[in-house]
Amino acid sequence: MDYAHKEYETRFGREPRAYGVQTMRYDVDHIGNIRGVYTQILEETPEGMVVVDGTERHWPADLVLLSIGFEGIEPTVPREFDIATKFNRIVANDKDYRTNQDKIFAAGDARRGQSLVVWAIKEGRAVAKSVDSYLQQKVLV
Ligand SMILES: Cc1cc2nc3c(=O)[nH]c(=O)nc-3n(C[C@H](O)[C@H](O)[C@H](O)COP(=O)(O)OP(=O)(O)OC[C@H]3O[C@@H](n4cnc5c(N)ncnc54)[C@H](O)[C@@H]3O)c2cc1C
Repeated sequence: MDYAHKEYETRFGREPRAYGVQTMRYDVDHIGNIRGVYTQILEETPEGMVVVDGTERHWPADLVLLSIGFEGIEPTVPREFDIATKFNRIVANDKDYRTNQDKIFAAGDARRGQSLVVWAIKEGRAVAKSVDSYLQQKVLV
């Protein structure tokens, strides 16, 4: 990938990637074929990301691929089971992965927020151990 970026830069004289860009709307023809997308630049401010006026740009395209990351947990399960959440994540510690509800554990993206597969595997193993010891204690009691 790095090589492709370098090649683009050599040929076109600029960095191919664009950051802080928000898609505002699609440009489609009269039968629904995609022709491009309209974007605007976003700027980080203390109040959050804001659109910079006058930065609208049209990007010609005949194919648009959406690659959207994890934005947070679905609220239904936490709401129904009264599980504490913060910033769209389930609140659970990284020692035993327990939530505020006695029998409910959380790990991975649902707990950390958007992350990496290696963390999901690590936390998956750790939460399995924690659930196992919880169940063993229950059997012994
Ligand atoms: C577009 C994209 C690209 C990525 N690229 C990379 C990458 O290159 N390298 C990398 O390391 N990481 C990458 N990640 C991040 C990685 O995929 C996640 O960090 C990882 O999958 C998190 O694993 P998880 O088990 O915590 O959650 P998930 O993999 O999201 O698994 C949660 C599962 O729970 C299920 N579920 C949800 N609600 C319920 C419910 N109520 N009942 C039953 N099941 C439910 C879901 O269907 C899902 O199968 C990428 C993520 C995205 C979105």
